[in-house]
Amino acid sequence: MALSKDFLDELRRVAGPDQVLTRAEDLIPYSFDGTAALQQLPGAVVFATTTEQVAAILKLANQTQTAVVTRGSGTGLSGGSVPCPECFVLCLARMDKILELDPANLTLLAQAGATTQAVADAAANAGLFYPPDPGSMRISTIGGNVAENSGGLRGLKYGITRNYVMGLEVVLPSGEVLWTGNKCVKDVAGYSLRDLFIGSEGTLGVITKVLLRLIPPPPAKKTMLATFAQMDQAAQTVSDIIAARIIPCTLEFLDRTTIRCVEDFAKVGLPLDCEALLLMETDGAPVVIAEEAAQMEALARKNGCRQLLVARDDAEATRLATARRSAFSALARVSPTTILEDVTVPRSELAGMIRFIAGVAQKHQLKIGTFGHMGDGNLHPTFLTNERNAEEMHRVELAFQEIFGEAMRLGGTITGEHGVGLSKKGILHKFAGEAPLRVMRELRRALDPKGILNPGKMFD
Ligand SMILES: Cc1cc2nc3c(=O)[nH]c(=O)nc-3n(C[C@H](O)[C@H](O)[C@H](O)COP(=O)(O)OP(=O)(O)OC[C@H]3O[C@@H](n4cnc5c(N)ncnc54)[C@H](O)[C@@H]3O)c2cc1C
Repeated sequence: MALSKDFLDELRRVAGPDQVLTRAEDLIPYSFDGTAALQQLPGAVVFATTTEQVAAILKLANQTQTAVVTRGSGTGLSGGSVPCPECFVLCLARMDKILELDPANLTLLAQAGATTQAVADAAANAGLFYPPDPGSMRISTIGGNVAENSGGLRGLKYGITRNYVMGLEVVLPSGEVLWTGNKCVKDVAGYSLRDLFIGSEGTLGVITKVLLRLIPPPPAKKTMLATFAQMDQAAQTVSDIIAARIIPCTLEFLDRTTIRCVEDFAKVGLPLDCEALLLMETDGAPVVIAEEAAQMEALARKNGCRQLLVARDDAEATRLATARRSAFSALARVSPTTILEDVTVPRSELAGMIRFIAGVAQKHQLKIGTFGHMGDGNLHPTFLTNERNAEEMHRVELAFQEIFGEAMRLGGTITGEHGVGLSKKGILHKFAGEAPLRVMRELRRALDPKGILNPGKMFD
């Protein structure tokens, strides 16, 4: 069933004729997100520019029981904003204003479609700091970050999106607009609905405004890059740094395959004969970071680090960080299909998990580049494959199952930051357990009784 002419006319009346796309060639860019091998044309795309429009659009969808897939920038890596059949896409990318920066309360209020970079820049222009920095931050929206509870390279020290959300404006499927949270540092009045919507992946409501906590920026930063001949040496260095009670702001890792792809792509000058690379950053008061950097260097050397580069200035720090930031783009150039996975294990299990992934690659004869937020125990085994090769895709599927199984066996999780969406919905039940999944279903039914929001995502 295609969307009816009456329905489309009503969408145009609410949002304006220029804000509704229906021609196939215009819909194609909205038929996929950042996840490989998932595509579905929507019936239409509508761009909302105000909360009132979002409310009117959801009311219409609810009355007609039409499925809505909310979309920010479509950089998601679990298929969350991939359209479902017979839906329309509600895109918030044009609701992109920074509405208020409150220096007295250290908060920032933005429309959900503002990019993460715009939020970070607005904070920096006011002499403040918004720490969550997903690798996609130049493009991803703050609403998408909240909906996925995104992490970033600074998560180890500063936490993830959830730690900075103070309030949300959310439109419910009925069209009702609710505010949850406020500028108070402490507030325990009732259930934390704010926390319910964080990470809800477009299944419970449409986030239209986000109130964020900002912090003072660290006065200084030191960036180092260490290379290792063996993976275990890098993993041991991470364990030793944490055990020494140092919490660096960044502790990121690339394996050999990723190092080679990055060097080919970004020409950062990385050594190609090493098995692992650690990007280590410490920030804070100059005297503290000097001490922490010296300790981290000593620990890396004790574990046999082959080369250690220390950035002399900001430009060099950016160049070293480029190695990590460009990992996904660099890997994506190598083969027709790039499937980026996302498992997290307790940090004490990292070395074993990395070895396990390498063993799985060998066993199934697959090319996997692994990189990730080593300080968080969050790894991104990235399959360089070809979705047109059915036999190889079968082996990829087997490899996934083994990797997720091992992550769970080690006390880890099936996704540390990319969410469940479509990609992980088949294994959520194995991880979450019966009672939590039942409560999730009941919550979803209570907020969206007609099941119009992102149907088929997360669980059926
Ligand atoms: C190169 C690259 C690097 C990345 N690096 C990271 C990283 O370091 N850390 C990380 O966590 N992720 C990372 N990601 C994944 C992705 O960027 C994040 O999940 C991001 O938060 C998605 O934002 P978006 O605006 O693109 O959302 P979309 O992809 O458009 O949507 C994602 C989900 O959120 C829902 N949604 C979007 N906006 C709203 C809204 N306003 N209200 C309700 N629901 C909404 C959608 O329905 C969907 O389920 C990366 C992706 C790429 C391509």
